[in-house]
Amino acid sequence: MNTDRRVRVRFAPSPTGPLHIGGVRTALYNYLFAKQNGGDMILRIEDTDSQRFVPGAEEYIKESLEWLGIKFDEGAGYGGQYGPYRQSERRDIYRKYVKQLLDTGKAYIAFDTPAELEEKRKAVPNFQYDASTRGEMRNSITLGDEETRRLTEAGEKYVVRIKIEPGEDITVNDIIRGDVTINSSILDDKVLYKSADDLPTYHLANIVDDHLMEVSHVIRGEEWLPSAPLHVLLYRALGWEGTMPRFAHLPLLLKPDGNGKLSKRDGDRLGFPVFPLEWHDPKSGDVSSGYREAGYLPQAVVNFLALLGWNPGTEQEILGMDDLIRLFDLGRCSKAGAKFDYEKGKWFNHKYIQSMSDEEAANLFIPTLEEHGINPADYDVPHIVSLVKERISFIKELWGQTSYFFIAPESYAEKDVRKRWKAGMPQIMAELAELLAAQDDFRSESLEPAVLEWIAGKGYHLGNTMNAFRLAVVGECRGPHMFLITDVIGKEESIRRIKTAIEKITPAE
Ligand code: GLU
Repeated sequence: MNTDRRVRVRFAPSPTGPLHIGGVRTALYNYLFAKQNGGDMILRIEDTDSQRFVPGAEEYIKESLEWLGIKFDEGAGYGGQYGPYRQSERRDIYRKYVKQLLDTGKAYIAFDTPAELEEKRKAVPNFQYDASTRGEMRNSITLGDEETRRLTEAGEKYVVRIKIEPGEDITVNDIIRGDVTINSSILDDKVLYKSADDLPTYHLANIVDDHLMEVSHVIRGEEWLPSAPLHVLLYRALGWEGTMPRFAHLPLLLKPDGNGKLSKRDGDRLGFPVFPLEWHDPKSGDVSSGYREAGYLPQAVVNFLALLGWNPGTEQEILGMDDLIRLFDLGRCSKAGAKFDYEKGKWFNHKYIQSMSDEEAANLFIPTLEEHGINPADYDVPHIVSLVKERISFIKELWGQTSYFFIAPESYAEKDVRKRWKAGMPQIMAELAELLAAQDDFRSESLEPAVLEWIAGKGYHLGNTMNAFRLAVVGECRGPHMFLITDVIGKEESIRRIKTAIEKITPAE
């Protein structure tokens, strides 16, 4: 095997819809491997199946990966020496190799119509187009060269099929799985080319392009492992065995409970996105949620995905892109599927928010403040953010955690009223309002001892009194240290809120 060749990997999506989160992980692993080895990362668009083409899918894929910081060195829309990088623009190239396979007897022409194939499938249980059945079908082997030429020249539609020789063990050497051997007899004579649209199928286009683009490593999802023996045979049939890329088939992403493959339905059922960005289906108009719109930071998504199917062999979990590039090891990827632990994804977002500066988090919060009609310039937003940051996993949670800094409560949590605002409390709060009014230095350093001294002197219950104070100011019994809150909202507003609460709250029995 060639070990000293330049590392060139490709991400080769088919533009058939939004990129699934599993596809994002495939792109990420390709990127990490390429960058670690100083190699090239290519974007190739595999759009030979015009039936399944979805407008907007290619743009969606690019935007998703750009958002995540997964960059391409060359490819569709990125330029490069090996283009074009969209398979639909490479017809002339494929035609040549179809001819080569036919001329060398590695492939043959078949005229069987879909109806004829369907009939055969009905008649023969487990029908497979292969060495055992091709002799009964309408193809160049049974019809002969002359009749085949006559039919093709007459414009009859045909396909080109690979001619698989049965009874041979084929070994795929996989970096993650080791040697995987199957017998060629279980393979069918797959269609490589369709005259109807003058395009190759996935299998042929994929191999021709990997070869011509000098791809050194094919890193892709486990679902492609069953195609790999056919791909090995195609490399051989085309005489390219010596430059065959190395394979690495990544483990599946499993449902959170580990039972089966992760699907969009799991996300809908359990309330998490399975796409990087929100996707608007152009046909149905359906909208699917995305990690970006759900409030994830791209770094958190990258870190989370990187550890689904690989780990660095240490306890370290917080890994930025540079760490990942340094530590990633294809050989350490697991063979077993990786459970999609969505809670862990939230945990990563929480961690990345904590590592942000208060200013950065405040900047992300400012649009929300403006939406609520608040002028951020009137407040020290980074300071307010610093008081609650550790409680949040998403920037969008900041409003719920801080709204009372900006607007007085309009209602009071019932269960807190029941517990903390008993019959004698309005009187105690009226005294507190007086105490606050008399306080010249309202900073927490002097206010806190003054309030505590008053409570102790009067023999009031500390917890009940402070919680009633909090209920009046916040609207419920939660939030950071009380005197950090009064520091922000100030004397006038604190007194006003206490007075409003006395007016508005009906004491509990
Ligand atoms: N076009 C295939 C896909 O949609 C590419 C598989 C491969 O990487 O070979 O995933």
